[in-house]
Amino acid sequence: VFVAFEGGEGSGKSTQSHLLATWVESQGKTALLTREPGGTGVGAMLRSIVLDPATGDLSPRTEALIYAADKAEHVDTLILPALADGAVVITDRYVDSTLAYQGAGRALHVGELESLARWATADLRPHLTVVLDVDPRIGLGRAGEPDRIEGEPVEFHERVRQHFLDLAAADPAHYVVLDASESPEAIHDRVVAAVGPWLAQ
Ligand code: C5P
Repeated sequence: VFVAFEGGEGSGKSTQSHLLATWVESQGKTALLTREPGGTGVGAMLRSIVLDPATGDLSPRTEALIYAADKAEHVDTLILPALADGAVVITDRYVDSTLAYQGAGRALHVGELESLARWATADLRPHLTVVLDVDPRIGLGRAGEPDRIEGEPVEFHERVRQHFLDLAAADPAHYVVLDASESPEAIHDRVVAAVGPWLAQ
């Protein structure tokens, strides 16, 4: 089973993905908790390129290709082998972050980005994507020192938020949208309610 967490800055994705991994293990299953960008060794190097403010401006297409390279390495060397071993793979961000940040945020062509991301991931799609939805003004306030992307204007983050909501609305069988302003415990209960049926299959 493959589960992705998506959402804006400060939406609690890393807290919720950790809580879910612990819960999965408590059910007697193996969980692999990972993230994009940076889930692999090469990915960590690519992450520092795209997120370090010292990188400065990057061409949006360069940025999109770096995220795509991170995904290819992530899927081929970590996610697919873990799924083949029967693990429940939980990723903090996946393809939708590319569509939302590089597409809606950077205004690259979403169809082209989707083709690139599908190619990079060998078209591997999550069984379920959990979107943690939060007003960017609140989320950015929760995040610490801004990285290269968090420093973008709030309008950028509003486009990103809306894109996640549109993706979820278009495919309700594979998405759940949760209000990230609730308590971490309450959100975790909703995550378990959404993921549980997939584990039982
Ligand atoms: O908060 P997190 O650890 O997920 O940080 C990843 C950073 O990378 C965020 O600032 C996010 O905006 C950015 N990102 C992006 N495009 C992606 C994935 C992540 O701009 N496809």
